[in-house]
Amino acid sequence: MKIITRPAAMFKAVMAVKAKGKSVGFVPTMGALHEGHLSLIRRARKDNDIVVVSIFVNPAQFAPGEDLKKYPRPVSQDIALCRKAGVDFIFSPSPKDIYPEGFKTYVSVDGLDRVLCGKSRPGHFRGVATVVAKLLNIVWPDVIYLGQKDAQQAVIIKRMVEDLNFPASIRIMPTVREKSGLALSSRNVYLNIKEKEDALVLSKSLNLASLLIKGGLRDAGRLTKRIRELISKKKSAKVDYIAIVNADDLEPLNKIKGSCLIALAVRIGKTRLIDNVLVKI
Ligand code: AMP
Repeated sequence: MKIITRPAAMFKAVMAVKAKGKSVGFVPTMGALHEGHLSLIRRARKDNDIVVVSIFVNPAQFAPGEDLKKYPRPVSQDIALCRKAGVDFIFSPSPKDIYPEGFKTYVSVDGLDRVLCGKSRPGHFRGVATVVAKLLNIVWPDVIYLGQKDAQQAVIIKRMVEDLNFPASIRIMPTVREKSGLALSSRNVYLNIKEKEDALVLSKSLNLASLLIKGGLRDAGRLTKRIRELISKKKSAKVDYIAIVNADDLEPLNKIKGSCLIALAVRIGKTRLIDNVLVKI
């Protein structure tokens, strides 16, 4: 496994393997790797000749006052996990490598970046789209592996890849959860024991939503109300949003139909958590 920090060196290494006709699978991450990331890496390992994992805590997607500084960075643990999972290249540039002096070009995926998480995190998805576009220009993967856990991010990256003609396909992998139901997230380390227990209300409310839909409920307003009621039973929980939208374009749905995404963002204490479930009618 090679660890590369310079964009030009990464590009050169990938071009060399592509010249031999090898396929490249790419898993973009911010590190603090857990089983969620590893499920993407394992899939990439299975599908491709070469696996590239990027580890980059992207300053452009954090607003002032968000957790950029305290975001976990267990570097040697991440390297060991990648090595064990059979990764060929870790690409871990510094912020200056990605955003050198004078940097001015950003990618916005119009509209999709202002709904759901985009409402309370303005600029976040501009930062995500920009860094992913840059990474794609450095790594030129055949397949990009993303998690359903960040459903809006996946929709936005899909749109961008299509709109900007990146020659890559996208594979979205299911959300990996703890036995308790809690979706794995690098930010779960911020939760204390009590908060971690309270955080189960996210997956529980999504399970309730799935059950109610199975039982025939189709009215999005009533469903939102039931989810909100359950979450509000936890004192430490504060709803940022509950969204019931079309899974492909994130347009709000009044009636549950087709491919429907139920997505939540909830603050547990000081930690903002997201989760979602896809329902197909
Ligand atoms: P992050 O390091 O949080 O930026 O995530 C990197 C990639 O891992 C993204 O595509 C995420 O959607 C994915 N990911 C994060 N958590 C999970 C999870 N619990 N299950 C599946 N994929 C995940």
